[in-house]
Amino acid sequence: MKQQPKRNDFYFTVVAVISITLIFIITVINLIFENGLHDYEFINLYSNNLFAQVKTLLFGGAALYCFFIFYIFHSRRQKQKELEKMAFYDNVTGIKNSIKFEKDAAEILKKNRSKKYAIIILDVDKFTIIDDICGYKAGDKLLCDIAEALQELINKNKGLYAHLAADAFEVLIKYEDQKDIIDFINRFINYAHKINCNNIAEKPSFSFGIYKIDDRTVSVRKMVDRAALALETAKSKCVNDYAFFDESVRNKLLWHKEVEDEMVKALNQNEFIVYLQPKYQLSDNSISSAEALVRWNSPKFGLLSPNYFIPIFEKNCFIIDLDFYVLEQVCKQLRVWINKGITPFPVAVNISRKHLGRPNFVEKIHECIKKYDIPPNLIELELTETAVYNNLNVITKLVDRLHKLGIKLSMDDFGSGYSSLNTLKCLDFDVLKLDREFFFISSPKEQKRSEIVINSIINMAKQLNITTVAEGVEIKEQVDYLKKIGCDTVQGYYFAKPMTIGAFEKIAY
Ligand code: C2E
Ligand code: CA
Ligand code: CA
Repeated sequence: MKQQPKRNDFYFTVVAVISITLIFIITVINLIFENGLHDYEFINLYSNNLFAQVKTLLFGGAALYCFFIFYIFHSRRQKQKELEKMAFYDNVTGIKNSIKFEKDAAEILKKNRSKKYAIIILDVDKFTIIDDICGYKAGDKLLCDIAEALQELINKNKGLYAHLAADAFEVLIKYEDQKDIIDFINRFINYAHKINCNNIAEKPSFSFGIYKIDDRTVSVRKMVDRAALALETAKSKCVNDYAFFDESVRNKLLWHKEVEDEMVKALNQNEFIVYLQPKYQLSDNSISSAEALVRWNSPKFGLLSPNYFIPIFEKNCFIIDLDFYVLEQVCKQLRVWINKGITPFPVAVNISRKHLGRPNFVEKIHECIKKYDIPPNLIELELTETAVYNNLNVITKLVDRLHKLGIKLSMDDFGSGYSSLNTLKCLDFDVLKLDREFFFISSPKEQKRSEIVINSIINMAKQLNITTVAEGVEIKEQVDYLKKIGCDTVQGYYFAKPMTIGAFEKIAY
């Protein structure tokens, strides 16, 4: 991209020189014919008509030729500008994209070594909801309004702004004091409050991740990554919040790195252990199935709960390998029980959203159950509701194919997203797992409302022929209530915590 303008300029110069030379030659010929060759009789015979015509033709030709060359180069330059626009500018908002941001930010930082700069990532909270409720056009309009706000607030000499991706923007600003950065954020929030977001009653809110550039040896991309890590911390807090890349974020980053350095070896050395948590049918309080929940028994870190490593594996996609490993361990164990003459309970395996849309997903599952010769009805796949909702088209086909193989599908954490009912309407799932959140009750009033909601969901599921599982059930009152309203199954500490396969075998068979 960089070399292109220089090469074009070279061609342009060459053609311009040729054109000027041609015009020069034509003029010289013209002069010779008009002045120098008058003595030659036979040439004089023609000079008044033929040469006058030739001259006009030559001049006309040269003018046309010059115009043609000019046209070619003009359209080339236009095309070049368009290509640059496509490569460096975002087509929704019209502002710079992240490639151009990285390039320009690197230049600014290089030229202003003694000045202090910070990178801020600004992310629209719950953008997918805006997109869903008001449509893509409203979502795009919001992005354009944000771009306009940034343009208004960022003085050209002091900073840089660009559209990073989806609903995130990146900003480079000069600052003297941390106060200047917070000032900028407040000014942005105030400005953004004026944005009219179609049918949404609430004003759009934002989260900000900030990296005060203290290490210029790393690339701009790494700096943006650091601001993005800080953003994650801000996102888990309240609306319009910000977080700086600090010691705790740095430690998180180091933890990510340590986990990533260990994970492949850990998988090869069977450090991941499958625990099973039984599910109990409420008709007679007996075990009906189990859920496979992975733990990492690391010689370096100790026994780790999945919350410490699954989010990292989701990010780097190692979860794909880990989920297939867990599935294989489950199939292997089911085969051991079948060989012992036991009729095992079905086992549910968690499937990350990262599998969705990947080639050969269904084939790999099929291969695994075939390898251990497992009746497919012993395997259930749990997919979280949000993963399902965000990939409705992919999942519809997936559900059909898995059903054809005889594998059941379960919608995990149902009720934690915002489009649960819509998901239920579209997809033919076999099991519905009520999210644990339903059972966190803060007041008697909330208790009443929560019971009405749970009751209706269970009724609805019954009519749709879907089995219901209540997750995270910890006390007897919850069990009694769930029994009363006709919930089929319960999984929770009230009955049993996740346990080793050996411990499960003892209580189940
Ligand atoms: P999940 O799929 O919603 O699993 C249920 C989680 O709730 C488990 O946490 C379980 O130990 C916990 N739990 C069960 N009953 C109770 C209760 O009565 N009270 C409370 N407070 N908690 C209860 P765990 O094992 O730490 O797993 C956390 C999450 O990690 C899982 O949530 C799942 O999303 C993920 N996960 C675990 N194993 C795998 C796996 O093999 N693959 C994938 N993709 N994700 C996994
Ligand atoms: Ca689950
Ligand atoms: Ca769950």
